Amino acid sequence: MKFIADAMLGRLAKWLRILGYDTVYIRNITDTELIRLSISECRMILTRDTRLIKKRGVKNYLFIIDDQFVAQLKQMVSELNISWPENTFSRCIICNERLFPLSKDAACNIVPEYVCNTEDIFGRCPGCHRIYWQGTHYKEMERILRELFG
Ligand SMILES: [Zn+2]
Repeated sequence: MKFIADAMLGRLAKWLRILGYDTVYIRNITDTELIRLSISECRMILTRDTRLIKKRGVKNYLFIIDDQFVAQLKQMVSELNISWPENTFSRCIICNERLFPLSKDAACNIVPEYVCNTEDIFGRCPGCHRIYWQGTHYKEMERILRELFG
């Protein structure tokens, strides 16, 4: 399942990426371009815009009801039958690229020492070269996953 989120859903898009879902989010995208991308890349449009869903060509969409991201995720889980995701922390939060594994030795040349001392698994984004490790996002993610799936 792949998504494209409208401009109002930046936080939801970030969390979908953390959970491993391929999610396009472009802050200044026009409606036309958003619809075009959803069709050409088979992406479900996630939107809070009632005007957008009435436009021509918009068929594959989910209208997001709540403005709070955990409630938004809950709606997606129940309406799209999403199960516990298996590819968490596999994507860059910023550019949606799939992360490459990075060895601890390589990571420790770059990340702060305390990170090197406390983390073992690292990934690197091929787009922006950011380095990822589990850290605090991971704990928050586990909490949110428990809230979503019980
Ligand atoms: Zn990136």
